[in-house]
Amino acid sequence: MNMRNPFSDLGIDEDRILQDEPMARHTSFRIGGPAAWFVTVINEEELSAVLRYLTENEIRHMLVGNGSNLLFADAGYDGVVVRLGGEFQDAAVTGGVLAAGGACLLSRAAAAACEHGLAGLEFASGIPGSVGGALYMNAGAYGGEIKDVCVRARLMTPDGTAVYECDAADLAFAYRNSALQQTGEIVLRADFALTPDDPAAIQARMQDLNERRTSKQPLNYPSAGSTFKRPVGGFAAALIDQAGLKGTRVGGAMVSDKHAGFVINVGGATAADVLELMQIVSDRVYEMSGIRLEPEVRIIP
Ligand SMILES: Cc1cc2nc3c(=O)[nH]c(=O)nc-3n(C[C@H](O)[C@H](O)[C@H](O)COP(=O)(O)OP(=O)(O)OC[C@H]3O[C@@H](n4cnc5c(N)ncnc54)[C@H](O)[C@@H]3O)c2cc1C
Repeated sequence: MNMRNPFSDLGIDEDRILQDEPMARHTSFRIGGPAAWFVTVINEEELSAVLRYLTENEIRHMLVGNGSNLLFADAGYDGVVVRLGGEFQDAAVTGGVLAAGGACLLSRAAAAACEHGLAGLEFASGIPGSVGGALYMNAGAYGGEIKDVCVRARLMTPDGTAVYECDAADLAFAYRNSALQQTGEIVLRADFALTPDDPAAIQARMQDLNERRTSKQPLNYPSAGSTFKRPVGGFAAALIDQAGLKGTRVGGAMVSDKHAGFVINVGGATAADVLELMQIVSDRVYEMSGIRLEPEVRIIP
């Protein structure tokens, strides 16, 4: 992309403007070619200025959270990747409500809730995403989902021109879905209504869930978590296992032996490897069961 650096003029510090930045460095899959520009903004004013500029100049751009549900192409991203940092990473508790910035990690939000004796976010403590990414995906685990605890969000329009607050009902949360996937609005902050409880009991529940996660999931390999969504009337991992696909490999991408729902990067996997493997898995499961699996991982062309 032949674009001079406009971000310094917009007030962004030089050390937060990266050119030709490999997305493999910013994704849990450790896959992805360079983004033409990778910019970290630390407050609402900077985010607004950057989004206005990119919109007015019709420059391709997208927001990343913690990069734990993304597959970037090997050719990279011919545009601007924007990441939230600074004040967006904060979390604060008032009464029974935890207010967490869009870039606050779920592990941090859950830990802050626990410290203040607030239960309800235990399910999220082991999900390696940010609050913004978790609202976008309505992330969930072990019977809990973001929609159960999120009551309000502070959003910015995709063009950076307006900021407003909305109730959770406006976000239309559904299984791994939210209105944000259609609107492209950006989560600046989310409020979670939690329940008072003994911090030791909350801590014990988080530890139990994280032990279950570690025993079942191939966390020692880079991945993007569950590759496919749970289909109606079944479980993706069980279907993939029944189709005999555990251990199936394309290049450096492999269907995990430990958890068939995960495609893992066993070393040097490319996005092309992952996509080819996903196609094989999807076709074989379809032939076996008549169920067409839908990707949960967001594929960035
Ligand atoms: C080992 C592992 C285990 C996992 N386990 C689970 C699990 O148990 N349950 C589960 O649901 N998921 C799980 N995931 C997937 C992933 O962690 C979640 O989907 C998470 O919500 C993604 O958050 P993120 O910040 O990494 O978002 P990213 O992957 O960076 O982005 C995902 C999408 O969210 C958008 N987005 C990011 N931030 C914002 C924002 N502030 N405002 C608006 N949009 C935004 C991005 O534009 C992108 O489209 C797992 C992943 C891994 C690697």
